[in-house]
Amino acid sequence: LIQLYQPLNLLGMVYREIRQALIDMETMFDLLEIPTEVADASDARPLAVKGGEIVFENVSFHYDKERTILDGVSFRVPAGRTLAIVGPSGAGKSTISRILFRFYDITRGRVLIDGQDLREVTQASLRAAVGMVPQDTVLFNDTIRYNIRYGRPEASDGEVFEAAAQAQIADFVARLPKGFDTMVGERGLKLSGGEKQRVAIARTILKNPPILILDEATSALDTHTEKEIQAALKRISQNRTTLIIAHRLSTVVDADEIIVLDHGRIAERGRHEELLARGGKYAAMWNRQREADAAREKLKETEDEG
Ligand code: ADP
Ligand code: MG
Repeated sequence: LIQLYQPLNLLGMVYREIRQALIDMETMFDLLEIPTEVADASDARPLAVKGGEIVFENVSFHYDKERTILDGVSFRVPAGRTLAIVGPSGAGKSTISRILFRFYDITRGRVLIDGQDLREVTQASLRAAVGMVPQDTVLFNDTIRYNIRYGRPEASDGEVFEAAAQAQIADFVARLPKGFDTMVGERGLKLSGGEKQRVAIARTILKNPPILILDEATSALDTHTEKEIQAALKRISQNRTTLIIAHRLSTVVDADEIIVLDHGRIAERGRHEELLARGGKYAAMWNRQREADAAREKLKETEDEG
């Protein structure tokens, strides 16, 4: 029996991995017509976006019954403001972004956008209103132009180029023999994690959604590119409700509120200065990153000298 169990177990893991990659890709659903976990209510209405206020009201959630992932999470992001979510890996940060996209229904509580419960609106209208730059971008086996234009199919070539320029990918594309017509993905040019991330950012810039989710959107970029894209992302998050999930705390310093998520609960919340003054989990994370940065800087100096 064990002999049978192990390959099955492995298959389960592979399945989970594939599924994760798919759910991290907002558009894959439409493309493959995968049956989703959730269905539209029979009387579902289109979401009417006013300012884009997001409310999580005592939200609990699990993927498997045995393990609670979110446990009574509440927050409000006023229209046009920025909420940052930080915390250790596995805390449930990406789960919050998936719930906001309604890839899953919650087990307790309510999620509202401009006062409308996500379970009462059509998924198509919800996904049109929310733009997500996911942690791991999966691209279509098609051209770079197609992959960027997916954000807004009626966009002109000029607008596609402009979005690529803002996402710091235009120069890279210009150097390719076929430029924007280069095929990417499994059967085309393999892009690095950072290049894929920039294509996803360009797509989202083009989509221009009222609500923006950045899930470690610059984690695969080198420090220099990250700084440049950070500026572009900051520009597009102005006056737009933004949820930013970040591993580098330097990117959340200006957020209107920061939530520290730990084991599916909010452990601390406040603005950057308040959390530093409190001397708790956030302050400890901040200090650890500062030390790591300083050490890296020092290493670079000695390398440059040597
Ligand atoms: P974070 O983004 O904070 O690193 P996630 O929200 O991705 O964390 O995951 C929270 C927890 O949920 C993790 O323990 C993860 O293993 C688990 N998890 C994530 N996706 C699934 C899934 N599709 N099925 C079962 N468990 C999952
Ligand atoms: Mg995550």
